[in-house]
Amino acid sequence: MKKNKDPIYVTQPLLPNFDDLKPEIQEIFENKWVTNQGQKHNLLEKKLEKALKVQNVSVFNNGTIALLTSLKALNLPIGSEIITTPFTFAATPHCISWNNLNPVFCDIEYNTMTIDADKIEQLITPNTSAILPVHVYGFPCDVKKIDKIAKKHDLKVIYDGAHAFSTEINGKGIGTFGDITMFSFHATKLYTTIEGGCLAYNNPELKNRIYNLRNFGIKNEEEVVDIGINGKMNEIQASIGLLNLDLYKNEQKKRMKIKNAYVEQLRDVEDIRIPSIPKNTTDSGQYFPIVIEDSFGINRDKIYDNLKEYNFFARKYFYPICSDYTPYKNLKSSSINNLPVANDLKNKVLCLPYYGDLDHKTIVQICDIIKSFS
Ligand SMILES: *Cc1c(COP(=O)(O)O)cnc(C)c1O
Repeated sequence: MKKNKDPIYVTQPLLPNFDDLKPEIQEIFENKWVTNQGQKHNLLEKKLEKALKVQNVSVFNNGTIALLTSLKALNLPIGSEIITTPFTFAATPHCISWNNLNPVFCDIEYNTMTIDADKIEQLITPNTSAILPVHVYGFPCDVKKIDKIAKKHDLKVIYDGAHAFSTEINGKGIGTFGDITMFSFHATKLYTTIEGGCLAYNNPELKNRIYNLRNFGIKNEEEVVDIGINGKMNEIQASIGLLNLDLYKNEQKKRMKIKNAYVEQLRDVEDIRIPSIPKNTTDSGQYFPIVIEDSFGINRDKIYDNLKEYNFFARKYFYPICSDYTPYKNLKSSSINNLPVANDLKNKVLCLPYYGDLDHKTIVQICDIIKSFS
């Protein structure tokens, strides 16, 4: 097989047609209202509430600032412990630490790779104030069990839903579970505003608090009531968001076809596992992860290297895991004994190139390279 002419990356940003964007930007330039809760910003919030099937949406300049703000909005006691997963992007534990809270890592499930709800309770101490699970790859956490544990121990639940845009469980928007859910609109995410994100929540009383925190804590011209941050989404981001609302469903459809093509190619390969989305759940289409078991011909890293030689750039999401990072590796909960499944899967999982315009020929080539080692 010949090396592919152009590099193929794990994803490609979903961008609106440039001609459709032009009049939107022209309008912004004419109005000269370019940021600070503008018209497009407000319209996007309303439309996202519908798209995500949630009661309240507050948009942000990125998902990390949104997550940071969500923890602040819930008034969690300084120094308290937040139970989270190590199998996620750096932003998840960093947002905990930036709030002067302490991450406590919990192991993950073998199948969905989300937090193992059966292992949460043993980590709860009198100092625990919240749980921060991640719907990793768009696979929903066990929201029912987590909700039960949270109620029993009076804990807040904040979901990192960065990978789960528009996912539904039994027809319910995934952002309706827990106290607050964060969605990221980064360029690598299915639905994007290039940089951006939002918080979704049921409790309308959170709205003012989040609104103020997002804008330096400024309540009005004469009152600053909170220690806020600048989390505001600008009008150009919002106009890309508005246009992409019309496009993401088609992108999802195309990705489902890509996924089926991969599954078709890989399903009979022994010792390659394709994690599947739980029943009654819709698939966001964020990533296509496969698990290369130890018994397969070669290991994950070698497959990754081989694909790279042909110009196919898969990603080792998630390796290293957050409990391996310098600031977290010495935590008690970072021990391998506490995280056996996460430490096992970090060496086995690989996210393959996955976006709507990926052509069939490329999928077959990628799978042929993998299969050549079986
Ligand atoms: C992308 C991502 C974030 C951060 O979102 P940004 O919008 O890039 O700040 C947080 N958590 C997870 C799991 C992510 O993948």
